[in-house]
This record gives sequence, structure tokens and C-alpha cells, in this order.
Amino acid sequence: MNFAFDNTYARLPDRFHARVSPARVREPRVVKVNRALAELLGLDADRLASAEGAQVLAGNALPEGAESIALAYAGHQFGSFVSQLGDGRAILLGEVVGKDGKRRDIQLKGAGRTPFSRGGDGRAALGPVLREYVVSEAMAALGVPTTRALAAVTTGEPVYREEVLPGAVLTRVAASHIRVGTFQFFAARGDREALATLASYALARHYPDAVGSGNDALALLDHVLEAQANLVARWLGVGFVHGVMNTDNTSISGETIDYGPCAFLDEYDPEKKFSSIDRGGRYAFGNQPGIAQWNMARLAEALLPLLADDEKEAVRVATERVQSFTGLFVEAHERVLRAKLGLVREEDEDLALAADLLDRLASNHVDYTVFFRGLCASAADPAADAQVASLFAEPGAFREWAEAWRRRLAKEDVAPEARASAMRGVNPAFIPRNHRIEELIQAAVLRDDFGPFETLVQVLSRPYDDQPELAHLSEPPQPEERVQYTFCGT
Ligand code: AMP
Ligand code: MG
Repeated sequence: MNFAFDNTYARLPDRFHARVSPARVREPRVVKVNRALAELLGLDADRLASAEGAQVLAGNALPEGAESIALAYAGHQFGSFVSQLGDGRAILLGEVVGKDGKRRDIQLKGAGRTPFSRGGDGRAALGPVLREYVVSEAMAALGVPTTRALAAVTTGEPVYREEVLPGAVLTRVAASHIRVGTFQFFAARGDREALATLASYALARHYPDAVGSGNDALALLDHVLEAQANLVARWLGVGFVHGVMNTDNTSISGETIDYGPCAFLDEYDPEKKFSSIDRGGRYAFGNQPGIAQWNMARLAEALLPLLADDEKEAVRVATERVQSFTGLFVEAHERVLRAKLGLVREEDEDLALAADLLDRLASNHVDYTVFFRGLCASAADPAADAQVASLFAEPGAFREWAEAWRRRLAKEDVAPEARASAMRGVNPAFIPRNHRIEELIQAAVLRDDFGPFETLVQVLSRPYDDQPELAHLSEPPQPEERVQYTFCGT
């Protein structure tokens, strides 16, 4: 296998990771290879899809140049600190620099036990692997920063959860797997040297332009704050609920990572949560910006010993930076909302216009994605208003708002068709609907039928294009199809 590995994380001191080989599995079978991504990484997709490829993607054979390691990290899970987590079922094979010049981790998720497995079996079930494949690739196509899926294979072995399920391995590709929790791991051990090493490494890897400012940790904090503010704004833009925003699931690179009980909104509801274990709604849709800020406070806290020599000064700097998150998020969110509404110029009234709309969507139980796609048509031609208004329990709620919207649009000299076309580039026709994901998992797990998976992957690779022949995949669930709860992949 022609992986041109160029590993750097494995060069970091021993306490950053554990050297471990994937465990063998009985009968690897390739479910899917992501050809476009393979190409970007300089890999031969045909070979990956072959029997030889299956052995590599399942962890039975290590490709030349791989240095397989499990990464150490800690993290706050639902607000409680756990000082030792780490890759319990994921093994990093190494790093590859793609044709675009970007360095990426290649990791097998579900590849067996590691020194960080605690009570777990180190395995992944097919359902969650397919979910992560579909949703992470959809996010990439939507333009939201995210880890990617290079491949999915089944192992030919059962995994034991509440029921017996087929085992699978996902090949995950990420800018890196450094998390807020990685910093917390060393901070909790009072290991200032490792913290400094990690901060400089992460800055050079993810924000190379910021190297040389004199304080790598501070520069890193600033860039991660901005990346997270942008990320969560993008999530809100497409109606994404991560579901388990623990600090070990918060990437320093600003990518969405760890697709567990994630879900997309159907009807707009800021209080919506799907995860069966998120009882208090800590990670509900509208709480995500606040939680991201909380996670950034944990990062700042971990970095404290590096922010300034004087402890009081370090706390002052950290506090100021964490507070700046609010402004960074509001700015990023305004950018997202303006684009969704077809606005180019910035006016003071824009945020109020958007907030008023969101209130109306919530109280009228309107499907978030269908609404904004419909609004694109309304931007082209007010004759489409009737259709959009019919989405509202009280159609007048839309008509009233649309008057204010059109007054605001009139301040901009943009042709209606051009505006509608720009809006169609940010308001998707297709999202990974929860009921469709459930459907494809059922088909794969119960009937060994990967047709629905393939179809959804294909349609979601062009989420901003109308695809009339697959229009049913853009529709909200019928009441009986509605997914109430999602479950962690573990
Ligand atoms: P997650 O909820 O997937 O972010 O995982 C939280 C922690 O549990 C991480 O340290 C994982 O590596 C670990 N973990 C999750 N599932 C398993 C499993 N099946 N076996 C071992 N460790 C696991
Ligand atoms: Mg995790």
C-alpha cells in the first residue's frame, strides 16, 4: 500500500502516546472507499478497495511506514473531569501530506483495544461507522470543517452492545487528533514541559502563520477560539447538533470531530437535543455556542502556566481571551445568517431580522432546511412566497416577516436571480436527515443491503444542487418516521 507516511506526532515524547498495533479481525470486507479523498491523499483507490486493501483498512496488515499509536488525552465529559481517556478504540497509523499540501492523520477507528481502553472492547459497530461516514462526508460537502471518512470495512466479527451487531472499522482522516483534552491531560499532571511542546507543535501544525509571535500558547489559544467560534456558527447554519461536545471531542484544528449521537434539526427548535444520554440538554442545539466557550475556558485553564510568568497576569489574559469568544461567535454567526438571508452588506438591523425569523420558525414548527431552501425561490420571485408561507402553522407569521425582509433586500443592488443563486450555495437542499440515516443503518445491519447508504452518500456529495430524481431524500420525516433519540456509537 502506497501511503507516503510522514509522521510527526509519533516523534513527540513517549508520554504523548502508546505504541500499539491494531488487533486482527476474522474476515475484513470493504464496504466503501472514498475515491475522491483517496485521490487527494495520493492513494490508489482500487488497491484500497481490493482484498489487500481490506486487510489494511481493518488493521490486519500495517502499511509500510505506519507507526501505529494510540494518543493520550483527558477531558471533561458532561462537565466532569476525567484525567485519563485517550484513544481507547482508535489507532493512528500515521500522517500523510495530501496533494493540496495539507498534512492529515490517518486513523483506524474500531481497531481493537489499546492501553486507554479502560473497560471497552476497542471495537466499533457497523451502524455508528456508517453514520460517521455519511455525516462527516456530508459536512465536508456542506463546507463545514470536519474530519473525513476514507473508508469503511466490516470485520466479520460480532460486537456486543445491547444487542449483537456486526463489527466495522472506519478510516478517519483528520487535520490532527489533538483535542482540548490533550492539553488537559498534561495540565492535570503538572507537566509544563509537555504542555509547551504540545502548544508549539499544534501551533506549527495548524496555524503556521502565527508561529514566531513570542508566545506560542497564547497565539494558539487565540486561533483556536476563532476556529471554534467559526465552527459552531457553521453548525448553527446547517442545523447540526453535535450531541457530545465534551472537551475530548473538541479539536484544536477547528474541525468537527467524533460523530456519536449527532443529528440535524428537522423543524427549528433551539432547545432540541437528540442524544439519549444528554438528559439535561447540556448539548442542545442552541446551547452549543455557550458550551464551545466553556470548552475554550478549559483550554485556557490548561494553558495557564504558559500564558504568562506571573500567575495573576496569566489568569487575566486567559479571562480576557475566553470572554472574547462571545464577540467572535456573534460575528461569525452574523456572517452565516446574512448569507442565508441573501444579504451582502452589513446593516445594524440584520441580526434582529434574523432573530425574529428564527423565533417565528420555532413557534411555527417549520422545517429549518426546507424553509431556507424555499426562501431562495422567494428571493428570485415573490410568487414563491405562498409555498414558503404554507410551511408555517400560521402563514401570516411568514408574510409579516417577509415584508421586513424585502425592505431590507431593497437596500442592496443585487439582481433577484443572482441573489437566489448565491443563497442556494449556502442553504442546502439536502442534509443527512436522521430518519434516512436510521433507514440506511437498518438496511445494512439487518439485510446486508448497502444500497440506501450508497444513495445517501451520493446525494449528499452535492448538497447544494437540486437533484429532482432524489427529491424524496430532501423531505422531512413523516410523524411516524421521526427520530426521537440518537445513541452514542460506543
Ligand atoms: P467517545 O464518547 O466516542 O468520544 O469516547 C469517549 C472515550 O471512550 C474515549 O477515550 C474513547 O476512546 C473511549 N471509548 C469509546 N468506545 C470505546 C470502546 N468500544 N472501547 C474502548 N474505548 C472506547
Ligand atoms: Mg471522543
